[in-house]
Amino acid sequence: MSPVIAIAGGKGGTGKTTIAVNLADALHRRYRLLLVDADCSNPCTRTFFSAAKALWQKEITLFKPQILEERCHYKACKRCVELCPEHALLAQPNKPPALIEDLCNGCSVCQIVCNYGAITEAQQVVGHLYFSEVDGNLHLLVSELTPGSRKNPVVVHHCMVEAERLSDHYDLTLVDCPAGTGIDLYLILRYATTAILVTEPTLLALSDLKKLSQLLLMAGGKPTILVVNKSGINPNLEKQIVSEIEAHYVVKIPYDHRIFRQVSSGRLLTHLNSKYAQIFDKLAEIVVQLAHLRC
Ligand code: SF4
Ligand code: SF4
Repeated sequence: MSPVIAIAGGKGGTGKTTIAVNLADALHRRYRLLLVDADCSNPCTRTFFSAAKALWQKEITLFKPQILEERCHYKACKRCVELCPEHALLAQPNKPPALIEDLCNGCSVCQIVCNYGAITEAQQVVGHLYFSEVDGNLHLLVSELTPGSRKNPVVVHHCMVEAERLSDHYDLTLVDCPAGTGIDLYLILRYATTAILVTEPTLLALSDLKKLSQLLLMAGGKPTILVVNKSGINPNLEKQIVSEIEAHYVVKIPYDHRIFRQVSSGRLLTHLNSKYAQIFDKLAEIVVQLAHLRC
């Protein structure tokens, strides 16, 4: 697999998607790049590449048990209830077991252990993957969770498996990670060769950043770049963040009210002016160095 750069931010709103799309823009001029939007609850990268040409899309489905009442020996048997690893089946008086969908991980153990063939397969669509071409050097793989579904880890897992399958065609894979510090982020960090932690000088962001650093260690530790967004709004806290988070490199993006206008209208910062183009060129250079790519 080509080097994987995971861009994570802990809490939402630190600007990780902004970093991901602008870094992709800076890198793809010299490298073949796969940009993966693994923030499946709220994928936003497409907003910045609205002219991308759609190439394919796929459903992500999960096994869902369907119990046939006429075959189920529920008065004498509770086997599926007892052996379900997620306790997703609930025994009911005078009825077949009920499924608690949120708990079910689709493992199909219940179907295997039922001696009466009373469980058939129904499928639930938990998300989609969309693959598109921005230009010859930049492709976009976007994951999207089905509204109302809580199967984020399943969707992220499928997304990363697909990214791994595609990655041989690219020099680098950039992953815009989900917010938070949950299992879905951990799944991505395990693939990552480098992590970019995006933060801002606020206490809330620092608290999440510490959790993020712990998760990174659990995933084996990675060369880390700390990106401080809105730099300058709280210099003391910024110093504290930089000293507490032991990153290999620190890149600062100064606070500028024009950033909000540019980003909210789906435009890249690298197109705002040469100052931002230079910041992302610098970040791209560090990424290339850590990924051991030749310029
Ligand atoms: S294992 Fe099969 S027969 Fe037993 S309760 Fe479950 S569905 Fe019914
Ligand atoms: S598919 Fe797995 S998790 Fe879901 S109900 Fe069956 S045994 Fe339990």
